[in-house]
This record gives sequence, C-alpha cells and structure tokens, in this order.
Amino acid sequence: MDNRIIIFDTTLRDGEQSPGASMNTEEKLQIAKHLARMKVDVIEAGFPIASQGDFEAVTAVAETVKGVTICGLCRSLNKDIDRAVEALKNAEKPRLHVFLATSKIHLEYKLKMAEDKILETAVNAVKYAKSFYNDVEFSPEDASRTEPSFLAKVTEAVIDAGATTVNIPDTVGYTTPEEFYNLITYLYKNVKNINQAVISVHCHNDLGLAVANSLAAIRAGARQVECTVNGIGERAGNCAMEEFIMAAKTRKDIYDYQIDLDTTKIYPISTLVSKITGIFVQRNKAIVGQNAFAHEAGIHQHGYLANKETYEIMTPESVGIKEATLVLGKHSGRHAFQKHMEDLGFSLTEEKLNATFKAFKDLADKKKEVYDDDLISLIETELGTVAGGYEIENIQIQTGNNIRPVACVKIKKDGEFFEDASIGDGPVDAACQAIKRIIGIDCNLEDYRLHSSTSGMDAIGEVSTIITDGKYHITGKASDTDVIIASAKSFLNAVNRLINIKEQNKKD
Ligand SMILES: [Zn+2]
Repeated sequence: MDNRIIIFDTTLRDGEQSPGASMNTEEKLQIAKHLARMKVDVIEAGFPIASQGDFEAVTAVAETVKGVTICGLCRSLNKDIDRAVEALKNAEKPRLHVFLATSKIHLEYKLKMAEDKILETAVNAVKYAKSFYNDVEFSPEDASRTEPSFLAKVTEAVIDAGATTVNIPDTVGYTTPEEFYNLITYLYKNVKNINQAVISVHCHNDLGLAVANSLAAIRAGARQVECTVNGIGERAGNCAMEEFIMAAKTRKDIYDYQIDLDTTKIYPISTLVSKITGIFVQRNKAIVGQNAFAHEAGIHQHGYLANKETYEIMTPESVGIKEATLVLGKHSGRHAFQKHMEDLGFSLTEEKLNATFKAFKDLADKKKEVYDDDLISLIETELGTVAGGYEIENIQIQTGNNIRPVACVKIKKDGEFFEDASIGDGPVDAACQAIKRIIGIDCNLEDYRLHSSTSGMDAIGEVSTIITDGKYHITGKASDTDVIIASAKSFLNAVNRLINIKEQNKKD
C-alpha cells in the first residue's frame, strides 16, 4: 500500500463551526493561501448551500487558490451538490464531499430512514456527484457508532458507485485509539473493493483523543487525515493538524509515512488562524503554545544548555518559530512594507495594502519597535473590517476608582457622524453601551478576551469579543496600543459583522 498521507484541512469548514469563529471571505482566502503554501493536499473551503457567505467563500477560494484540491461539502441531496458544483466551477482540482448519517441513533432520531433507504440515498448521491467530477468523497456521518457490518456495506456500495475517498468520521469524539484501529482494520478485511478508494478519518476531540485516534487509523491503513489548524472545530474541536504532523514526523520510527507538508509554516498559520478566529491558543498547547518550547525549570535548563537534545524532541525552528525580530521602523517605505508582507505570506489588494500601510505608520509613531506579530494583528484588523460599516471617530473615557465610568463615543458611517455618551460598569462597558445606543442595536457581550501580541509595555493589545443577539454569535476583533480603544473597536467590529450577517440572511 502507498504510504503517503493526504492532509485534508477543514479549518474553513469544520473549524468555522466553532462557536463565534465565523470568518469573512477575505479572511478565508488568506488562510487558504497559507494552507496552499504549506502544501496541504485538500482544502475544504465550506458548505456552499449553508449560506450565501459560505457559497461566496468557496467560490473565491476555488477561483484563487491553485495547486491544491478544493472541496465543498454537501448533504446527500441533488440541490446541495448543484450548489457546490456551481461554487467549485473555477477550481483547478475540485472535490465534492457528500455525507449522510449511518448510525442507528441518527437513523432513528434524525433521519427517520431505514437502512436500505440510507444505502440507496448514499449511492444515488455519489453517482450524481460523480456525473460532475471524478473526485468524490463520501462520509457516513457518525461512522464510529455505526454497526460495523452496515458501515462495511455502505463503504462497499459507495465505492462501487464511484467514491474515490471514503471518510470514516468519529463525529461525536467517542472512539478510542484501539477501537478505531480495529474498526479501520475491520473495514480493510470486509470491504471487497476497499483498495479502489482512499480511506480517510475525521476525528473529534471530545475526549482529547482526536490526534491519537488519527494516528491509530493510519497504522490500520487510513491514508487521508482530516484536521484543522490549532484543532479548532465543533465543540472540543478536531484533530489538530500541527500535533498530528509533528507526532508522525518526530516518531518516524513508528509512523513511517510520507507527509509532504512544510512544517516551518505551522507556527505562522497557527498565529494567523488564532488572530482571525479570535480563538487564542492556550499557553501549554502542544507544538504552538507559548510554553511549548520554553525550558524554564532549573534542572531542565541546566541539561538543556549543555545539550539541547536532553529535553528537546523537536526544534522550534522546525515548526517555524523564530526569535521575535524587529522588522520595520518608522522610516520604512511602502515598498519595503509590501515586500515584508509578501514574505509573511500575504498578498493584499491595493486597497487593503494602502490601509494596512497607513495603520502601520500610525503604529510606528506610537510604538518604537514593530514586530511580525504586530503586523499580522494589523492585517487581521484590516481583513476583518466590514466595508461600509461603522467606524470609530473619537472616544473619550473618564474613569477612576471612585467614579462611575463615562464614555463619549463618536462614530461615522458613509460620511455621517453620530455621537452619544453612556455610563457603564467599567470603561469598556461604558464604551460598548454608548455604541449600542448610537446604532440602536440590541445585543449582549458574551465573551471578552484581551491579549498582547508581543511583549513589552508598549505592546499592541488585541481584543476579541463575542456578541449575540440571541440568534447569532459573532466575533469581533481589533488591536490598538490602547486597550480601551481596542475593546471599543472590537465590539464595533462585531456589531458591523452582525448587521452584515443579518442583511445577508435576509437575502437567502
Ligand atoms: Zn467534524
């Protein structure tokens, strides 16, 4: 059997299903370009029929990102497949990914279908997808809780119908490494035509076993692993790409497989995804957490200084972690700035480049040293900006230990200015209340996180907020050297996105 592992990234689809992690098309496009540059094999760009926003994002990724397979998700319905085909029409290598639940609990409570009906629906959907593209993936949803004999039957039938990949998802994150190894082994023994398709796995992390289960599966013969950057995804998330890859590469003595991915791009993409989604990586997270390569305990440090290998099983350089270097200063010109952005992996439109350059100049005035992380924050703020949305013009805050905080906020939209003031429980609350009053929007702040992009007293504060109107949960992000200003901008960004999504869904 071929020992090459296909890396299927679903950050833009499953990852986006993390509560509050919605991304706009421009943000998805930047992530997709980074994924292509790090040489993942397949990018699942979205679920085209789910919303107009998803459709547009898949279309944009399919048009722009070449050299990698672009995949769209569909239920086993012709209208879903038609919509995905439309979104993928300009893809160099399109793939349709069709799914249908097969476990008893899903059949009885969700689909209300009998087994033979499931089989027929799956086969028909695969055949229909196959009439458009050769590359068709089928997923029996909740496979790990499906009766193995029925799972084998479905797998055989969809391969006969033309599926080139069959994905075995552990949808609810319930399986364990031994059990999953046995399940994949069982399929290899009991599905006659299994060698005509690639077997894939898609593991969720509800029990913290997604990476371990994926590693067990490849030893049993799976040759595609579905994963996300930083392991984001529904509930506890998915198999973390960086952990899977580095485990397989570091323990090549056990996992002797070919993985053609540029691991030095891992850290940059992890940073980008965390900034874009507002889901910050925990400090002790494997591979990409801030402490992952810190050797501080005295006894370790001594051994480490004598010989790095005493405690270091992989190097920070191998995953693209570099010393923070001063990159640009106040006098750097536009050309140097653009060149540096390209080195960081961003190809921006003229308009976005101008806006980011202006933000950089403003920042360089306030902050002597500008680092890569600061620049990525600026780009992210720019990408997340809603065109034609409200913008902060002025904020004035009065606060102290014995007074009620008051915020006066002036915002603008389409050349018009609006102003109001509010008191609040704290300065951030006062600013948010003033913004709500001006716009007349009803929403609550659900989550608020403040994070500094680099170290030092003058570091940029990055703020990620999640707001909700009861129906949607929307993330807003912003950065500024002043944390109160960053907070207000982040809240306003979330409000702009909420207004946008409501408008968009009115049209759907
Ligand atoms: Zn999933």
